[in-house]
Amino acid sequence: MRIDVVTIFPDYLSALDLSLVGKARASGILDLRVHDLRDWTTDRHRTVDDTPFGGGAGMVMRPDVWGRAIDDVSGRGSERGADQGAHLLLPTPSGDTFTQRTAERLAEADHLVVACGRYEGIDARVAEHYRATGTTVSELSIGDYVLNGGEVAALVMIEAVARLLPGVVGNPHSLVEESHGAAGLLEYPVYTKPPTWAEHDVPDVLLSGHHARIERWRRDEALRRTVVRRPDMVEALDVAGLDAHDLQV
Ligand code: SAM
Repeated sequence: MRIDVVTIFPDYLSALDLSLVGKARASGILDLRVHDLRDWTTDRHRTVDDTPFGGGAGMVMRPDVWGRAIDDVSGRGSERGADQGAHLLLPTPSGDTFTQRTAERLAEADHLVVACGRYEGIDARVAEHYRATGTTVSELSIGDYVLNGGEVAALVMIEAVARLLPGVVGNPHSLVEESHGAAGLLEYPVYTKPPTWAEHDVPDVLLSGHHARIERWRRDEALRRTVVRRPDMVEALDVAGLDAHDLQV
């Protein structure tokens, strides 16, 4: 997968050199390129913003600068012609909520372009133009709060997507039972050594070696935790996927 991130703060994205995403880049699973939006400015002050039409506080990012940047990194207008696969992601607090389902969908793409807004955001014509000219555009929010810029949202989305790419997480089985996975539950509580710490014991069943009982306990605990913490997720469960024991939990 190729991901291009365009930002006025390229250094913000340096965390993507670390850990599993860093390894995915080094091994070639992920071709991640970070660009400085100011490279597409044409004035000597390298201006990317201007005052909002209609008045009001703050500055708005200019569509002409963003247009040149997005065209270039997505391959539009170059010898390659319009890049059929490029999917434009616009982080914004007014977008659709980014969820694990979104990450799964984006992990299928060949090429993502992430445009990190700042100030009052990016001129609305940018989303409009790319949608109208056939690019898949997703305006995505990572939660109901306002950040100073799209860089942190880009980090969140890229990490969630990259760990789903084959070969990034060492043991692919660890993706199966996770919170927000196919089962629609939160993950069960997890424990490691020592078996007793600060007078708290690991549940006996996990030390029993009895595989079927452990599986059952984990399922029950996942359900219990989801009922308490995320009743909205329980409501969304497919009843056909529940067994008689589940219903007692
Ligand atoms: N004026 C905008 C509004 O009220 O919707 C907020 C702009 S915010 C200060 C600047 C940039 O931060 C946005 O363009 C977006 O890229 C990013 N941003 C802020 N909060 C975000 C969130 N919850 N999810 C995704 N991106 C966010």
